[in-house]
Amino acid sequence: MSLTRLIPIPAVINPGVGPARQATMLQLLGSPRHTYDRECQAVTNVTLKPHMMTSSVGPFRVTGFDKAVASLTKVMSEISVERPDIYESLGTAGMLCARFVRGSEVSISNHSWGTAVDLTLDGNLDQRGDGLCQQGLADIAPIFNRHGWFWGAGFRTEDAMHFEVAEDTIRSWFSGEPHAAQILSLGDRGPDVLAVQTKLNALGFTLILDGAFGRGTMAQVMAFQRAKGLPVDGVVGPTTAAVLGLA
Ligand SMILES: [Zn+2]
Repeated sequence: MSLTRLIPIPAVINPGVGPARQATMLQLLGSPRHTYDRECQAVTNVTLKPHMMTSSVGPFRVTGFDKAVASLTKVMSEISVERPDIYESLGTAGMLCARFVRGSEVSISNHSWGTAVDLTLDGNLDQRGDGLCQQGLADIAPIFNRHGWFWGAGFRTEDAMHFEVAEDTIRSWFSGEPHAAQILSLGDRGPDVLAVQTKLNALGFTLILDGAFGRGTMAQVMAFQRAKGLPVDGVVGPTTAAVLGLA
């Protein structure tokens, strides 16, 4: 059986997973850049940039958002066990690429956050928008789904080579409780920062809940520390976390 044989998009795909919405990505991760066009450009957001990592995920190397790269590594490991034939054929047409969605001048591609990856089979790209997909992509889509990834064959304009971290998975990354011993400071981002911002706002502060520890968050942490008679360093260590009710 040829893995690159074109078949119709299966009738039932992406059970329980949906594409990550632009509003969610902007709210939880911030905008990777100020401006976008059709070509790949660099991420300029200083809180997002440190989370971009380059690593082998098994059959190929990618640059992407750290948690997405880690998840993709697990997906690939499972593919290597369940479908070693497909694993051997897999390549990539890229992960991180800050640009608009192809054909759009308003929608930011999820590749901009490094949470989407385009796959090739034996070096072949699946053609977007033809309503068909390579057999091998359909075969591994359920494995991606199980790990909280959405298959692009489900887009209005099908994009079967495209897999992205799903809406609920992105949200789950930002809904955790901080660990007692953790120290959060300027430049950190993620669920723990979001928890600090949520606590501060519950106390009357007015932070944008973006999970990014920027200068605004630091200033309001310092105001909180001043009000509570704590050392005013703008860092959320064990004491500040405890007084915030987080530890
Ligand atoms: Zn893509």
